[in-house]
Amino acid sequence: MDLDHVLLYPEGKSLLTCIQCGVCSATCPQEAFMEYPPRKIVAMLKAGLIDEVVQSGSMLKCVSCYSCQAKCPRQIRLTDLLFPLIRGRMFEGGGIPAELQKAFLDVQRYGNPLGRSTSERSDWVARSKVPIRILADRPGPVDLLWNVECYPSYHPRGQAVALATARLFHRLGLDFAILGSEERCIGDCAGYFGEFGLLDALIEQNLTTFRKYDFRRVVTSGAHAFNVFAHHYPGYGFTTPVEPVVGLIGEELPKLRPMLKTSVPHKVTYHDPCCLGRCMGASALRCYFAPPRKLLEAIPGLKYVEMAHHHENSLCCGGGGGGMWLDTYYRDQGMDRLSERVVKEAVAAGADVLAVTCDYEVSRFEDAVKVLGYDRKIVVRDVLELLDESAGGEAAV
Ligand code: SF4
Ligand code: SF4
Repeated sequence: MDLDHVLLYPEGKSLLTCIQCGVCSATCPQEAFMEYPPRKIVAMLKAGLIDEVVQSGSMLKCVSCYSCQAKCPRQIRLTDLLFPLIRGRMFEGGGIPAELQKAFLDVQRYGNPLGRSTSERSDWVARSKVPIRILADRPGPVDLLWNVECYPSYHPRGQAVALATARLFHRLGLDFAILGSEERCIGDCAGYFGEFGLLDALIEQNLTTFRKYDFRRVVTSGAHAFNVFAHHYPGYGFTTPVEPVVGLIGEELPKLRPMLKTSVPHKVTYHDPCCLGRCMGASALRCYFAPPRKLLEAIPGLKYVEMAHHHENSLCCGGGGGGMWLDTYYRDQGMDRLSERVVKEAVAAGADVLAVTCDYEVSRFEDAVKVLGYDRKIVVRDVLELLDESAGGEAAV
């Protein structure tokens, strides 16, 4: 859909149903920093003031948290349709901060936003004490294709989570394999930033790779890839079942529970990522609110506490929609970092561990903990790391 002709399409026509209630602006965590908040943007698009909206840069502040779309009484597709179209136009006219431009260039060149070589993508596998099958080396049918994703493949904290995940898969006897150096970015940041050409190229490339192998289902390390698989890949004919790893391990809880023997004596809270909650739309059946909580509560010694914002009202970490690469821009604009708000809320809830299940969030929240000087108050752990620890960690495999 083209922004200039947005009202010609059925999805765009939904703009005409806007009643200007302002719920979208009231729920937006970035509203205070936008020249034009969501309600006003809709009014301006209806009035044809498209260039004014694009030039204001308001959409650079949007972190694709889905709060506005989830709460709009008219179900107008603000987050996944209109706002990416506006941001896509910003690419044409410049005005994209250098940090974000570099991330997109790196995705285009290397298949990941960290600018790392594809040949290094599976270097972390050598540190695994359990076997991890790479399909190019050992082709043949496999039950689970594990889409490891960029941060778990390259970032040291992400790699630690990937190693814990592999140990859990191994303990549960799952038949899994990875693509290794054949894996590429699944397209999350491109899709939500309106870089539809790049998204299209990534999906085509990934589907070409998938067609080489015989697998029954896909499991994603994190929330963002799951969201892109759920919303974009079916449009390209990809209908293989996809699940986030926390959902898959949640289904395996009866088998995992007897292995959780080591006490983890901490007060733990959990951050609901937007991509496993609000992004899944009105269908609570597709949201992953319960599995991480059930998994945490199965760990002996662990006391679970809830933050003020949780489930569909969870605060965004600020990393979506390109926000992961806009922290310098946000700081220069005098904006709060959403990740710091979440960490403050976790500490206020009395937690000494902030548990996450999004591949962006371990490093993102750890950075926020350091910036706030909360190193002695709270640590950030993936849910899978806590499960692995309770099951004995590396020593027990
Ligand atoms: S919440 Fe929906 S109906 Fe209300 S102002 Fe925003 S876009 Fe319009
Ligand atoms: S998606 Fe979130 S950050 Fe973006 S406009 Fe809507 S509420 Fe604001």
